[in-house]
Amino acid sequence: MNVENPNIPPNRPVIRQLDDAAANRIAAGEVVERPSSAIKELVENAIDARATRIDIAYADGGKTLIRVTDDGHGIPQDQMILALSRHATSKIDGSDLLNIHTFGFRGEALPSMGAVGRLTITSRVADADIGATITVNGGEIGPLKPAPATIGTVVELRDLFHATPARLKFLRTDRAEAGAINDVVKRLAMAEPHVGFTLRDVSGGGEGRITFRADPETGDLFSAMHGRLRKILGAEFAENCIRVDAEREGMTLTGFASLPTYSRGAAVAQYIFVNGRPVKDKALLGALRAAYSDFLHGGRYPVVALFVECDPERVDVNVHPAKAEVRFREPGVARGLMVSGLRHALATGGHRASSTVADATLGAFRAPETSQPSRQYQMDHPSAGAIHTAYNAQSGFGESVADYSGRVETPVVEDTPTDHPLGAARAQVHENYIIAQTTDGVVIVDQHAAHERLVYEKLKNQMAENGVAAQALLIPEIIELSDADCATLMDAAPQLVTFGLGIEKFGATAVAIRKTPAILGEVNATAMIRDILDELANLAQTQSVQDKLESILSRVACHGSIRSGRIMRGEEMNALLREMEATPHSGQCNHGRPTYVELKLSDIEWLC
Ligand code: ADP
Ligand code: MG
Repeated sequence: MNVENPNIPPNRPVIRQLDDAAANRIAAGEVVERPSSAIKELVENAIDARATRIDIAYADGGKTLIRVTDDGHGIPQDQMILALSRHATSKIDGSDLLNIHTFGFRGEALPSMGAVGRLTITSRVADADIGATITVNGGEIGPLKPAPATIGTVVELRDLFHATPARLKFLRTDRAEAGAINDVVKRLAMAEPHVGFTLRDVSGGGEGRITFRADPETGDLFSAMHGRLRKILGAEFAENCIRVDAEREGMTLTGFASLPTYSRGAAVAQYIFVNGRPVKDKALLGALRAAYSDFLHGGRYPVVALFVECDPERVDVNVHPAKAEVRFREPGVARGLMVSGLRHALATGGHRASSTVADATLGAFRAPETSQPSRQYQMDHPSAGAIHTAYNAQSGFGESVADYSGRVETPVVEDTPTDHPLGAARAQVHENYIIAQTTDGVVIVDQHAAHERLVYEKLKNQMAENGVAAQALLIPEIIELSDADCATLMDAAPQLVTFGLGIEKFGATAVAIRKTPAILGEVNATAMIRDILDELANLAQTQSVQDKLESILSRVACHGSIRSGRIMRGEEMNALLREMEATPHSGQCNHGRPTYVELKLSDIEWLC
């Protein structure tokens, strides 16, 4: 029985107003999930304050110390206490939640951190002679004191979650938390190439160890962005990416995307930003996949850093407490921009294939750094003379090139001008690889893979116009099939006509192939139809019609292309090289692998 009021049963809950400290601790659960999320909030505050240099220090995975120092505009002394109270912000006035130009606007980060850790803010504005400092510990705000300070702000968060020990248990190892911090800082640094960042692990005390440093980039936006991405994603990405610059209905897409031949086995390096905010948006990631679907196998993922910008009113950023998700007012425009912008950019990549295969090959040639061999060393080597003799015996235009098995490959007699990007064909080896000489290197082309892509691109162009031109077979080919296969094929028949394939039912369990795509020339129609049946079975689950069309066309292309094993004449090889140069996407085969490798003389010349 309730002692105060005997009529109220003892287990009925009573409604209470929570105090600010409790409310802040609850809010902190959403905003500050782990050290990296605190760092994200603090760095975003520094960027909002127009800092040009941001220094981030952390100890023990950020659990015992986080310190963010910036040279931004600072906080005036008389507003320091206000900055620490909930829903206090200088970034919006609350009248328009759709027109947000800053990272912050919720006014929750500082009070949340003050509620769950020991937070000290020291700041000075340009028009004050001295700075001020204030500490909040477990929600208790201390006195505001004058402090010597340079212009800007230092926010220090010690012992995160000491006021809420239960949450400490959810933190991962120091190493894992440090990894998350590095990731967050790099993402933010990608979006702000003109701002300098340093990230230091000060676990051992003192200046600590710099784990990431990016000086402010100069130049226009694209060169700054490219420089910053080189720093963060590596030189290999910087050399194998394409600039993206597209616009659709006032929404823009800029950034850099990898050539399809430079891909990863998982979606681990796909960075997408909306109005500067790093987001993990399923719809945009889906659009990215769609844009590359024609160039990459399901299991390969491009590397991208892409920035979508639009009027803030067209995207709602207030749908996620940590602002990791956004909602577009017109999702179709954002998706369309992503797909068409990327496809267009990839087409401008022309025949380029990534240099990574060449790099891997060259890596095998290169001596370990410590014993970089000089030319002298090569000449002194006992076998050097023998190498030179063998080389001379095999070189020269018009001579046969013998491989180690003694088999003689096609001689190449022709001498074309070598200033084409893919050079002049010099020889064919192993009946599948064209060796071409460029002005400054050697190119090795996989003739089957390259030609398959060329045929595929032609088929797609024909599809885009009036459908693939068909040629009637003099004698139709009859294929016996199972009932199920027959039905599948006849269902697809109206679609296959547009691919240049004329198929008719022939009795109960057979079909007659009457037409094949003209571009393929003479082709084994039965084998092609069986392949298409396999593809149709594979595709049963696929959602997108576009994906299906592309997969089937790619199968068709395979049947019309130069087989490996076919001996090619010099003119044929050169014609193939010229066609590759003129055809977008010819640098990768239909499965996303490179169709050629280029070795620059500058990379290999020390060997000779
Ligand atoms: P929000 O960023 O959503 O406004 P915060 O709690 O993160 O909320 O910060 C509250 C206010 O404190 C900000 O609106 C800003 O005026 C001020 N502030 C916070 N950090 C900084 C900083 N590094 N430099 C200048 N002002 C800051
Ligand atoms: Mg903020």
